[in-house]
Amino acid sequence: MESGFVARIIDKLKKFINSSLFLSPYVKNYILLSNARSGIFMAAIIAALELWMITSAIINLATSTDAYSFSWLCTHLVAYILLLANAVFLFWFCIHFLRGDEINSRIGKIIKFVFVVISIGFGIFISYTSVDIRGQVFAFVTMALFSICVFVWHPIACSFILTLSFFLYMYFQGKISPITYSIKVNSFTAWIAMMMICLNNRHQRRIEAQKDENLEKLNAYLEHKAQTDDLTGIPNMISFRAQAIDVFQNPETDASKLCFVFTNIENFANYNETYGFSAGNVFLKKVAKIIKTVFEGDIVARFSDDHFVILCRRIGFEEKIKSVNTQIAHEETFVKLIFKAGFYVPKDNFASPINACDRARYACMSLKKYYGRDIAEYDDKLATQAQQNQYIINNIDSAMQNKYIKVFYQPVVWAENGKICGVEALARWESPEYGLLQPMSFIPVLEEYHLIHKLDLYVMETVCKEIHEAYVKKLPLIPVSINFSRLDFELIDPVLELNRCIETYGISRKDIHVEITESSITDSKLVEVMNNFRNSGFSLWLDDFGSGYSSLNVLKDFNFDMMKIDKGFLSEFSENSKNRPIITSIISLANKIGMQTLTEGVETTDMRDFLTSIGCQRLQGYLFGKPMPKEELIKKIKDGTYDTSMLPIAN
Ligand code: C2E
Ligand code: CA
Ligand code: CA
Repeated sequence: MESGFVARIIDKLKKFINSSLFLSPYVKNYILLSNARSGIFMAAIIAALELWMITSAIINLATSTDAYSFSWLCTHLVAYILLLANAVFLFWFCIHFLRGDEINSRIGKIIKFVFVVISIGFGIFISYTSVDIRGQVFAFVTMALFSICVFVWHPIACSFILTLSFFLYMYFQGKISPITYSIKVNSFTAWIAMMMICLNNRHQRRIEAQKDENLEKLNAYLEHKAQTDDLTGIPNMISFRAQAIDVFQNPETDASKLCFVFTNIENFANYNETYGFSAGNVFLKKVAKIIKTVFEGDIVARFSDDHFVILCRRIGFEEKIKSVNTQIAHEETFVKLIFKAGFYVPKDNFASPINACDRARYACMSLKKYYGRDIAEYDDKLATQAQQNQYIINNIDSAMQNKYIKVFYQPVVWAENGKICGVEALARWESPEYGLLQPMSFIPVLEEYHLIHKLDLYVMETVCKEIHEAYVKKLPLIPVSINFSRLDFELIDPVLELNRCIETYGISRKDIHVEITESSITDSKLVEVMNNFRNSGFSLWLDDFGSGYSSLNVLKDFNFDMMKIDKGFLSEFSENSKNRPIITSIISLANKIGMQTLTEGVETTDMRDFLTSIGCQRLQGYLFGKPMPKEELIKKIKDGTYDTSMLPIAN
């Protein structure tokens, strides 16, 4: 227990000595600077005092008649001048040191040493030659002040000098008058007091310096953090922007030889889904490392998620992207990841890095889902497209509020007699800025930004409302097919919403058909949703059959009332002889498993006749009418274009 106590004390002592003597360069410099500052004050005070002493000595010399006093004054005058010169020299040194001028450290040490010796020598000389109390006190004070001032420069050397000077002082005093016990005690007390003041002074400065150092470290850390991406440790966009601006501000930079690159890891969302977010993060760190190595010497930063930005030389950039891609492809994963890059070559040195990255981003995003193309350069058309996409994202809510989103209806007819059996509700956006927007220009954007459910809810509501109006106006009741996006099943509960809508408008479930594309049938949750739709009494239609990959499994695993055969089978109908047997087989297969069939994209009477001949029950296509506004549909029903006499008894 005792030894533990002693060990702790020794440990603390060691720590104290270590922290007092072995200082970091920062603390050393801090102490040197603060010494230089107090050195200036000391030098100024000494200079002022000595000037006063010199003046009074000269006046005394001029008025003195006493020969002894004349030589005494002369000796002192020389001492005063020496000390004044010493102070001026110290002043000069401190000023230069603080200005940061190059001063050889050995010269600095010599200057300080000379200053200490002269100051203390002066103090002793004055005390020795003055017998009166005033002189002695003055000498002590001078010594003490100087010592305190210089002590902090080098504690061991200075405590040695201070102690030595006390002994010298005592020695010379002893020559004048015997050293009594009380003089010894007084001197010892004065020595102790000055040592304590000096030690305390040094300690205070060291603590101040260490606090300051910690603060600086913290600042540097915060600054680094503000400029660094948390996950990957590479620079973030703040740092990227600052570095890019530096590059372009250099008049020697030739902008046309550089390019801004924006990258995307295609399928990274699937990687996250398959392996989880933490594995995804580990992977992103790896990618950051690969990019940094491949683009060594270029400016690289993480933009967000799986996107990185690079400012590099235009020449050789494609090879570098390929190299990153190859290294990523080497990672053993079940998900195929492709590293894609868009780039933009700035026109001049005034390019804004953020705008340039945006352009590179448009180029990169234009590569989405393009197989075989990994690199694209920005062109102005991409910007127009990107602006339109941004417009769609920003305005979908107000477009619905202002009724700019319209529901168009495309007729579906019975193959055998061409009479109308239903309509498909298809969205249109009548934009005051862009004119009439087709679904293909806004639906993929809304899907990408997870806003599609808003549109689908709106279309659903509008359809139910318009069916209700048909009830009220006693118009023929035409069943309406509504499209649901794959994402609706993740973002909302479509069954609940549709049931709510049906009840609000008091319409029959037989008036609505639900269209789902086969690509949306991916997980087990969907089986549940589909069963709910069917149990609620809705007819379930499989949309775009044949446009995906898993068609036959879908037929095996799910129960649909209707198969909508994709219009792709009718493209090149007259040229491609394979189309007919394929469609024939599909229809026969559907009939065998108890599904009705509808073929989309019927544009010619040839197509119609063929489809009718092979037993397809329903047809949809421009031959019977394009998607049209409700008013036009009603008009065409009224004028007999569409015969409603064979409306189906809905399933
Ligand atoms: P879809 O569900 O396959 O709709 C049929 C598309 O084929 C419609 O395109 C229609 O205009 C077009 N079409 C019909 N007959 C012919 C024809 O004879 N020839 C040709 N070339 N095309 C024909 P539209 O209206 O542009 O819609 C495109 C797609 O947008 C739709 O494909 C559907 O997937 C989606 N969509 C439209 N409205 C909505 C909606 O309200 N919600 C959701 N989620 N998707 C919608
Ligand atoms: Ca459809
Ligand atoms: Ca379709």
